[in-house]
Amino acid sequence: MREVADFFIYNIDIVGIIILIATFFPIVKLMKELPPGLLRRWWNILILFILFFVLSYVFYIEERRFGIFMSIEMIVPYILFFGAIFVFFVTTLALRTALDVKRIYTLEIENITDSLMGIFNRRHLDRILHEEFSKATRYKLQFSVLMLDIDFFKNVNDTYGHDIGDLVLKNLGTLIKEFSREVDSVARYGGEEILIVCPMTDAQHAVALAERLRKEIESTVIVPADETKEITELRITVSIGVAAYTSDISSAEELVKHADVALYRAKDEGRNRVFLCDGSSPDDFLSSRYPIKYHSRNGSL
Ligand code: GH3
Ligand code: MG
Ligand code: MG
Repeated sequence: MREVADFFIYNIDIVGIIILIATFFPIVKLMKELPPGLLRRWWNILILFILFFVLSYVFYIEERRFGIFMSIEMIVPYILFFGAIFVFFVTTLALRTALDVKRIYTLEIENITDSLMGIFNRRHLDRILHEEFSKATRYKLQFSVLMLDIDFFKNVNDTYGHDIGDLVLKNLGTLIKEFSREVDSVARYGGEEILIVCPMTDAQHAVALAERLRKEIESTVIVPADETKEITELRITVSIGVAAYTSDISSAEELVKHADVALYRAKDEGRNRVFLCDGSSPDDFLSSRYPIKYHSRNGSL
């Protein structure tokens, strides 16, 4: 142990130069990954600095051991001076890298978010659905989806205008996001249709969740009255179709179709209600033989 400590004490300069040379391995990889631009130029300057440090080290070792050119006292201030500039470069680079990471993160969020409703967009929804569906089939997990559609939304647009219609969608997106559980994914499926993906949730819990959500929306003022009283407070209701995964459902699209069929039925039965579709053939339902296990209105399942 003591020999190792002695080796380090007497050869610390050699160990230092080895570590400096080793930094070129990650740097070479990094340069392959970096796109052209400012960051790449900064890294080029930093490489020059590292080369300078390697040379300084060589010079220092030579002076320490043989002392041919100048005294060590003259070399040290130069190394420290360039060391200070080096640290400045590294911290500036770290800042630029952090800003880039933040920018990429913002872009990624924008890429998966619906700009009006502030919930996931359709593209991301398709991804989530396929991921959850394959997890459910592989590990035999429960998995449900809720398809929600605003009742008589055309009337809102016709009566209050498209801008208020947009505001309704925005506020509804916020309400559902706040209401839903952390594990659920809320996404805009189409115009004013929202799909909620509920992993590890069986049919009964999904229906209960849909029913709580339906009531919450019904009892919320979705757009408050404005100061001029031109618009009185606005409320909406929604219909929700629920579908739960069973082994005879062969794709995520089929599961969504089941939820859509249940939604269709909820609309047909008078709106502002929840319907569960557990059947094997949506076409059967469309010809009115489709089995509906539960339906609810105003809390009665
Ligand atoms: P139902 O109860 O049968 O659902 O009646 P509805 O009037 O809601 O009918 P439907 O669901 O077919 O209506 C969709 C309407 O949603 C039509 C369209 O004008 C409106 N809409 C779709 N996307 C937007 C949007 O981004 N902004 C606004 N303001 N309206 C939208
Ligand atoms: Mg509608
Ligand atoms: Mg619709």
